[in-house]
Amino acid sequence: MTTVALLGNPNTGKTTLFNELTDKYAYVGNWEGVTVDKKLGRIRHSEMVVVDLPGIYSLTPITKDEAVACNYLLNDSPDMILNVTNASQLKRNMLLSIELLEFGRPVVLALNMIDDLKANGISYDFAELAKRLGCQVRATNARKKSGLDQLRQELLATPPTATQPLHLAYPAAVQAAITQASQALVTDYQLTPAFANWLAIQYLNRNQIVRRYANKHHLQPLLRHQQAYDDQNFEEQIFQTRLAFIDDTLTATTKYLHEVSNANLTAKIDRIVTHPVLGLPIFVGIFLLMFKLSFDWIGTPLSDGLDAFISGPLSATANQFLTSIGAIPFLKSLIVDGIIAGVGGVLSFIPQIFVLFACISVLEDSGYMARAALVTDRLMQLIGLNGKAFIPLIIGFGCNVTGIMAARTIEQPKERLVTTLISPFMSCSARLPIYGLFVAAFFQRNQALIVLSLYFLGIAVALLMAKIYQWVFKIRENTVFIIELPKYHVPRPDIIAMGTWEKGKGFIRKAGTVIFGGTVLIWLLSNLGPRGIVTNIDQSFSAAIGQFVLPLFRPIGITSWQTISALMTGVLAKEVISSSMIVLFHLSGQTGLIATFSSLFTPLSAYALLVFILIYAPCFATLAAIKAETNSKKWALYSVVSSTVIAYLAALLIYQVGSLFI
Ligand code: GDP
Ligand code: MG
Repeated sequence: MTTVALLGNPNTGKTTLFNELTDKYAYVGNWEGVTVDKKLGRIRHSEMVVVDLPGIYSLTPITKDEAVACNYLLNDSPDMILNVTNASQLKRNMLLSIELLEFGRPVVLALNMIDDLKANGISYDFAELAKRLGCQVRATNARKKSGLDQLRQELLATPPTATQPLHLAYPAAVQAAITQASQALVTDYQLTPAFANWLAIQYLNRNQIVRRYANKHHLQPLLRHQQAYDDQNFEEQIFQTRLAFIDDTLTATTKYLHEVSNANLTAKIDRIVTHPVLGLPIFVGIFLLMFKLSFDWIGTPLSDGLDAFISGPLSATANQFLTSIGAIPFLKSLIVDGIIAGVGGVLSFIPQIFVLFACISVLEDSGYMARAALVTDRLMQLIGLNGKAFIPLIIGFGCNVTGIMAARTIEQPKERLVTTLISPFMSCSARLPIYGLFVAAFFQRNQALIVLSLYFLGIAVALLMAKIYQWVFKIRENTVFIIELPKYHVPRPDIIAMGTWEKGKGFIRKAGTVIFGGTVLIWLLSNLGPRGIVTNIDQSFSAAIGQFVLPLFRPIGITSWQTISALMTGVLAKEVISSSMIVLFHLSGQTGLIATFSSLFTPLSAYALLVFILIYAPCFATLAAIKAETNSKKWALYSVVSSTVIAYLAALLIYQVGSLFI
């Protein structure tokens, strides 16, 4: 089995290529940091495995992502490398290509986004480029799927044996050091000449991962001279040699096709949507439109239909069937009032959630999301924050766990920690069902606006906390936020469909696992009490638990123990809050819901509750992610406590201040 490592700068189309070449679909995004771990896929009709690695600018790691890629090369030693580049930005992309070509494995260089290059009136002499680099060169357009068959054939035809690595003419002192070290590594440590040579270059270039590797394997020929290398500033000399090589190569191979007019559509759109003043209102407007689509225009009618079907015909049929086979009432109630009502109640929000995800996918694929990052970056800078956190946060709208994973692209450990800690405040899709239940009951006319306000409140809390952490951790502003602005394009339906499915499938999977489990659990707790099976829910375990802490929650407007018990189940997964409420209140159908809720909540206390749900303790999966990323239980525990306190304070403020006016 041959393995091919897919490497390249962020946003060059690696994931798109990966998806086209292999049988597996991985998430495609329009910004850096979306691919945070390696993904495997097999090239169609072959035994060749492709590994999609995070985007990197060089092998010398600054971010955790870059470490992933470098470690992969060192330890997994792939047979071949597919280096994907953005053809329009070869000058910068080739810094990485050189390091890969020096590795001594066959490299196939894909000049991707060749369409953009052509649009700029430029092309390359591919044969000359291939000759100078000593590797195969293929022009591709991963988006339009052109050049991919040739690329696939090229990969399959390349023999996976070691090749002659690229040799640059480094300054004499550098070259002497490389030669001396690598020869010693070959004779004393039995390394292959190509690998030894690459190790030496990387070591001289202060690659921390390689230096650690050398320490671990006691590679004396390198370790011995570390001080000398650093004193002579070999790193800088290596960089300059590479730049000069790139300049030469590109000058010799660039072909100008024709003059292009700069009446460029992308630039025109950008002048408006990234406008210093207009940019932010446009951003808010687009999000409002998104919520209108999912909560008013398309999502809600579909959800209502689905809900009517589940609570009507489906539940009646199940009831009849269970009666006909003589099921005991306990079981019948578990299935109909527990599972069908609870899990079904959550599932009926699928249309709303999927419409929202489809909108987000359109924004991503069209290229707008990168602009949104830029626009919000300005806002964040105003309050002294770094815009790099924006992307993990936006991803957190789908699921906080993936948002936290995406925070790996942030270089500074402290900034990464802050982003991890504020990620759970982003309103993930699991909170949507409970918003949906309440806005349908209390805010019929302004559903989208209310949901939008919760999303923005989440962002506001996240930013406020970030500011506080920044101050507490004494973080000084020192990283720059760079984002590539891809050209706008008309979203491709299949990418939208896949992106929507990719974001939404977890929701469906959860319905069968944790939501199901949580619903059964709350049903059991509500039908069992200290004295066995209870018929009056007020004597059940869930009533006992809920009532115990209820006094604490009265100041924020919660008056029913059922709500408290439902909130507690929310740590399993946020969707479980709504299925628990449905089970606990025996709600079936939208009409029953409105009547029951309006006797227990006012619009104000309903809103305070939604704010509490937005902010309070993250779910187990998110806590596990926090623990894994920060490497400490302490931060996970801290997250539970701090967010619950903040949630309580926010709900208290809203309810108490609101009560003065209403
Ligand atoms: P990665 O970060 O390298 O994995 O890049 P992605 O695969 O996520 O692609 C980034 C963006 O570039 C997506 O919006 C793709 O649709 C787009 N893209 C990928 N390949 C091409 C191409 O050949 N031409 C153009 N115009 N866009 C492309
Ligand atoms: Mg990717």
